[in-house]
Amino acid sequence: MQINGLSLIGSSTGAQTDSSFKAIDPSTAQEIEPSFYAATADETNRAADKAQSAFLKYSRKSGAERAAFLRAIANHIEALGDTLTQRAMVETGLPEGRIKGETGRTTGQLRLFATVAEEGSWVEARIDTALPDRQPLPKPDIRSMKRPLGPVAVFAASNFPLAFSVAGGDTASALASGCSVIVKAHSSHPGTSELVGQAILAAIEETGMPVGTFSLLHGSGRVVGAALVTHPSIQAVGFTGSTAGGLALMRLASERPQPIPVFAEMGSVNPLFILPGAAAENAAELAAGLQVSATMGVGQFCTNPGIALVEDSQTGNEIVESFVGAMRDAPTATMLNPTIHKAYTSGLSKRGENEKVKTLVENATESGGCPGAAAVFEVTADTFLEDESLGKEIFGPETTLVRWKTKQDLMAVAEDLEGQLTATVHGTDKDFEDYADLIAILERKVGRIVYNGFPTGVEVCPSMVHGGPFPATSDGKSTSVGTYAIERFIRLVAYQSSPQSLLPDELKDGNPAGIWRMVNGEYTR
Ligand code: NAP
Repeated sequence: MQINGLSLIGSSTGAQTDSSFKAIDPSTAQEIEPSFYAATADETNRAADKAQSAFLKYSRKSGAERAAFLRAIANHIEALGDTLTQRAMVETGLPEGRIKGETGRTTGQLRLFATVAEEGSWVEARIDTALPDRQPLPKPDIRSMKRPLGPVAVFAASNFPLAFSVAGGDTASALASGCSVIVKAHSSHPGTSELVGQAILAAIEETGMPVGTFSLLHGSGRVVGAALVTHPSIQAVGFTGSTAGGLALMRLASERPQPIPVFAEMGSVNPLFILPGAAAENAAELAAGLQVSATMGVGQFCTNPGIALVEDSQTGNEIVESFVGAMRDAPTATMLNPTIHKAYTSGLSKRGENEKVKTLVENATESGGCPGAAAVFEVTADTFLEDESLGKEIFGPETTLVRWKTKQDLMAVAEDLEGQLTATVHGTDKDFEDYADLIAILERKVGRIVYNGFPTGVEVCPSMVHGGPFPATSDGKSTSVGTYAIERFIRLVAYQSSPQSLLPDELKDGNPAGIWRMVNGEYTR
């Protein structure tokens, strides 16, 4: 497949406009061919109009038809093979193993949502049959189920060029639900985006899905992205990226004449708590595991442990010493793009400006490209509580150690935390008894609590929650990973006294869809 640098608008392409840009190889900071052309306002409108008319047909397709489409997308992505791997590597600086692993995650995710669409019980059908003789008033027949919202705008993330990008979790869950999708390609991997977009279009053609079920727009978020979010046909937004970007989209969506939901995943510092018993038993393993988790993917994971709470004690000192040693030895690696690299280096220098913050590791980097070197800071619990900025993410291989002296310190820091995607607690059985209140605090603050492990690595499975209260996400009740992600793009519709012929199969008498349903208060199939 060839990269043309053009937006994909239904089955046609955008034009070569005046506004163009090139991807940048982060290992050299040099531009890569070809040029990409930003979608015009007219092209954005065309994509939205096509998504709207496609939605009317696509949302009526059966679960089996949507499943076949999702599986065809996975097959076409796999067929891209080395062309996709090589382009993603040069655009992101990520190694081959990571790109191949992410391709597998992406296709696995599409196939998982295919099984969800096919099985069909996600619609949560409920049926309450009529009681015409009920006194004092008859009860009508009422049936409800979840239906897709409409065309969804997806903003791809820079740090997962495949799994959180064009055919990533947002797109897979929206398509599984019956929504059409328009992706605003991330400007830092436009070629990778276009290749995956072409694979989706090939799957549309192969499975006979309506033209306009998917489009891909190149161009700046502030122009093309904003036009998309404010288009009246768009009914929801999925986003992974910066807090500033997520907040901007939330604002645009809420100021529309018809406000729409934005599901923005904006990152977090993923606090890791080391309790005294675990510290005494496993100091060396804890330090080594923390170093691996903090530097994995050059720290560019939304679940990267940015804060670790270590007791100010002899065993705590041992953990800090080995962690600092391992972080000093951590090799420097290329970050995703010049913007992220610049934000990382300026985040490190700002953190170092507070005189009460001790810099324990700040590895030197070579000039050229976008090198990300490991960094470690240390603060007391009191300093952490005084300086709000210490609880903010520095996106990259950085960890701030918060040294606590008393249980009261630890609880105060936990209570002070903003909403997070994850929190990790290392403890023994006795620790968990002694610090039971900590878990109660964390349940209010985070989407996922990890025991005696590390937060990086988000399994794609039905029970996963990759979400959390604001500001980790814009909607603390949602997840962007796992099959619950479909919930973001659907809403309940009830049908009262409907003729059988007008009901969706999921709600008809006799259960022709063969799904789990609640009928007069009891679950049946
Ligand atoms: P980003 O700058 O927020 O960009 C994500 C997407 O949103 C891009 O398509 C971007 O368009 C668009 N966008 C950004 N600001 C916008 C605005 N004001 N209005 C409309 N659209 C907008 O995120 P990123 O490039 O992936 O990474 C930048 C920073 O985000 C990182 O340094 C890190 O702090 C954070 N981050 C967090 C996560 C996470 O897991 N939550 C993941 C990656 C990055 P353009 O193509 O024009 O840029």
